[in-house]
Amino acid sequence: MGGVFEEERRRVVRSLVEEGYLSDERVISAMLRVPREEFVPPEYRRLSYYDSPLPIGYGQTISALHMVAIMTERLSPMPGHRVLEVGTGSGYQAAVLAEIVGPRGHVWTVERIPGLAEFALSNLSRAGYLNRVTIAVGDGSEGFPPASPFDGIIVTAAAPDVPEPLLEQLGDGGRLVIPVGSRWVQVLRVIVKEGGKLRVEEVLPCVFVPLVGKYGFRA
Ligand code: SAM
Repeated sequence: MGGVFEEERRRVVRSLVEEGYLSDERVISAMLRVPREEFVPPEYRRLSYYDSPLPIGYGQTISALHMVAIMTERLSPMPGHRVLEVGTGSGYQAAVLAEIVGPRGHVWTVERIPGLAEFALSNLSRAGYLNRVTIAVGDGSEGFPPASPFDGIIVTAAAPDVPEPLLEQLGDGGRLVIPVGSRWVQVLRVIVKEGGKLRVEEVLPCVFVPLVGKYGFRA
């Protein structure tokens, strides 16, 4: 069965390259290595390599593969980087980041729903990433001050505006990737901190589940 998934993984990564979603070698090899089938609930396992969001319980989703590709490329993580993810969900995005930052880097990921943090913990453990990923339960709209500053911050839920604490916890030269807009539709923003100044780029329209918290939407 592992062989079938591996073949499907290679096929979907190849089409993401052909469709122009993927070009960074580091991201390509990370997505070729992370077994998405370990991050989806058993009833959706056979759909692991469909390029679409899939339900993971609690009304939440694991993001589509092309969205993981776009966001990871825009974050531009490097080996040795310290990265914060807000919205752990299944743990798949954290695993892709862990592949890239490598043994000298680290990924902190914050999830507000305890049951999903447990789901991600068991997925990341089975897939062998727990040595480079720390999961925290809480309101990630406030960031994760104990491990800041970060080289990169990725938010995988939709925010009404860019949470101020995330900008504060971004190191110089750091990049923040975040969908910003209404509960129903957003624009993916990339914010780069350079010499204390912020450069903002809008990438594309997108649809994410809401970021719920102090600097997000109300529950
Ligand atoms: N990155 C995830 C993955 O690889 O499976 C998918 C994330 S899912 C689209 C969005 C996640 O953000 C949900 O699990 C949701 O519970 C979480 N979330 C929403 N608001 C949050 C907050 N304030 N702090 C932390 N997590 C939050």
